[in-house]
Amino acid sequence: MSENGQHYHTIEEELNQRDDWARRRRKGIPNNRQLMVVACMDERIPIEEALDIDLGDAHIFRNAGGKVTDDVIRSAALSTNFFDTKEIIVVNHTDCGMMSAPDSAVVEGLKQQAGGSLEDVDLNPALPELNLGGASIEDWVYMTDDIDEAARQQIEYLRSHPLIPDDVEVHGYIYEVESGELRRPGERISAKINTREAS
Ligand SMILES: [Zn+2]
Repeated sequence: MSENGQHYHTIEEELNQRDDWARRRRKGIPNNRQLMVVACMDERIPIEEALDIDLGDAHIFRNAGGKVTDDVIRSAALSTNFFDTKEIIVVNHTDCGMMSAPDSAVVEGLKQQAGGSLEDVDLNPALPELNLGGASIEDWVYMTDDIDEAARQQIEYLRSHPLIPDDVEVHGYIYEVESGELRRPGERISAKINTREAS
């Protein structure tokens, strides 16, 4: 400590810290919070601010809807099994684009873009075996009617997936774009205080 109470690192400590930062993965050092975050790509979610995390704190995966897709499973499997991640947080949000268009419009739009059918369209250029086949385009796009229900489903997918260890904690929250607050799925404070059955 210096006179004004500030802590100074020695050069030796400084160099060690820089080495740890640069070679974290090779040294087997987890991220600071041992945390992975799955969130919607929506530009209105300040994900670090909402979760009070900083650079170095978490693995962050964002996609359309904050859905547990095959690449979320791939990334979560690697993060939890090899990089010591102990918790996964899923963040969905109000007014999500996944609720804004009817399924049929999205399906038709994509079909048209693909020239009629999505059956043989590559979903992953590196894995030509991976195509939709007979699966429904709606299911692949993950359009959603009820964001709270969708959030619960994403949490359940991760909790029950065989590639995610059982001791990994999975939590999910809804980010309200209108208030800038997080809440648990199904827990609307305004609904509680605005209705007679409120408790
Ligand atoms: Zn969204």
